[in-house]
Amino acid sequence: MEVFPNIFRISHQTDSNVYLIKSQKIILIDAGGGQFNKLMLSNIKKIGILPKDIELIIHTHCHYDHIAGDIFFLKNTPAKAAIHELDAEPLTKGNAIRTLASLFLRTPEPIKVDLLLKDGQIINVGDFELEVIHTPGHSRGSICLYERELKLLFSGDTVFPGGSFGRADLPGGNFKDLVNSLLKLAKLNVMVLLPGHGSVITENGNNHIRSSLEMAQSLLEEGLI
Ligand SMILES: [Zn+2]
Ligand SMILES: [Zn+2]
Repeated sequence: MEVFPNIFRISHQTDSNVYLIKSQKIILIDAGGGQFNKLMLSNIKKIGILPKDIELIIHTHCHYDHIAGDIFFLKNTPAKAAIHELDAEPLTKGNAIRTLASLFLRTPEPIKVDLLLKDGQIINVGDFELEVIHTPGHSRGSICLYERELKLLFSGDTVFPGGSFGRADLPGGNFKDLVNSLLKLAKLNVMVLLPGHGSVITENGNNHIRSSLEMAQSLLEEGLI
């Protein structure tokens, strides 16, 4: 479960990745699709953390597979919810199209957002300093979270390992924006890549981001997307 010192992946392997950062503060990155709440709670307890200790859930974007677990966590913990300002409204209004809940054949419940995030904002989580990087393309308000000193990037659904990247053809998506976001990420020094789906990469995260960028740029140049 521990994918990096004091960072745990608490989600089921078939769900989106939910990470827990354990420091002076306890926070979650994303909340999962809602089917595995009890499993996540039991994993949290295995780490030695009580639900009442979770302070914040930071969302990488507004899609249902990353937010539906909120209904459970916000009810059972004192955690507050944070998301980029451009992805907040789909949550607060329970927008079935923008959250993609309709794709999952679900009706989303409105979720209260406590903290609106902006590009460049720093979130201090004890020993971790997370910088919000606005990376639109997969959704309007997609973000990545960058820990500069540790060279660590939570990449949501913007970039995945092995030259892959998030879809840009969903509501709120834009492929040119996605390519620009990948360009922005390729300038960072990343060793550890913690994506919203799939495996965690612990070395040479940069190379993965660069191959995603090259792949996306070639599709754009060839007019294939
Ligand atoms: Zn997504
Ligand atoms: Zn996803």
